[in-house]
Amino acid sequence: MKETIYISGHRNPDTDSICSALAYANFKSKQDTLNQFVPIRLGNLNSETAFVLDYFKIDAPVLMESIGEGEKLIQVDHNEVPQAIQGVEKADLVEIVDHHRINGIFTAAPIYVRMEPVGCTATIISKLYKEHNFEIDSQTAGLLMSAIISDSLLFKSPTCTPLDEQTCRELAQVAKVEDLESFGLAMLKAGTSLTGKTIEEIFHTDFKDFSVGNDKFGVAQVNTMDIDGFMQDMKVDMQDYMNSLVAKEQYSFLLLALTDIIQEGSMLLSAGQETFVEKAFNIQMVDHACYVSGILSRKKQIIPVLTEVVAK
Ligand code: MG
Ligand code: MG
Ligand code: MG
Repeated sequence: MKETIYISGHRNPDTDSICSALAYANFKSKQDTLNQFVPIRLGNLNSETAFVLDYFKIDAPVLMESIGEGEKLIQVDHNEVPQAIQGVEKADLVEIVDHHRINGIFTAAPIYVRMEPVGCTATIISKLYKEHNFEIDSQTAGLLMSAIISDSLLFKSPTCTPLDEQTCRELAQVAKVEDLESFGLAMLKAGTSLTGKTIEEIFHTDFKDFSVGNDKFGVAQVNTMDIDGFMQDMKVDMQDYMNSLVAKEQYSFLLLALTDIIQEGSMLLSAGQETFVEKAFNIQMVDHACYVSGILSRKKQIIPVLTEVVAK
């Protein structure tokens, strides 16, 4: 009888975790016809991954909360226990394919481990297909390609290696995706879509308070690839919301950075004493807004300059 071997990505799954679990199940079923490989997921699909599965018409892996004692498991895109499925300590871990630091793996028996310091698990899985001379079908190629786009932010992430990009471009051909860039942008855009979220939810996605002397200020940062859409549909309401928050909580000012990692810049929106923001970035706000190119990091590029100006 065929034994079931589950293949799981990490908790709070991203596109690499979902797509690599699906693709690796495909790979394993070619490599080992005696067992049954079942891709699973440890949480809901994010909107980026949902876009990918919809595009390539592939069903999501089965949702599983925990694994039973002695059940066989392959981990992809993670190895650390806190990121793994509940019950992993008592499961029978048989294999790991990953691209993260190794931290605290203990196994009862020897296992297969394939780790490489590349930008994406899907890059390693693609390499395994080549090593075994297995053909990649177009759907699986689409999954692997999407995972690489996701983890590498379309090759812009510092974690992206030349092998990731080369592999991704080869996969795009197999997947019959003619324009890799426009597919990638559409996919990343789906992942950072703000539609369906309230103004308050958007503002508080990633908001932090700071105080310098007697001044209290707050900075929110939101990743989006649709700054224009935001400015058209939500800017006015967001401005009202920020103004009310300044009055209610007595902030010196509030800043919202809408950051577009592909365009490599941030739209800054402010409420309260705007001159702090203008001085810090040496800009002139128009209607309480200004796009500043090159600003991506709140920690490194926003807070230090604001703190310096406020402290003066
Ligand atoms: Mg991941
Ligand atoms: Mg990954
Ligand atoms: Mg990731």
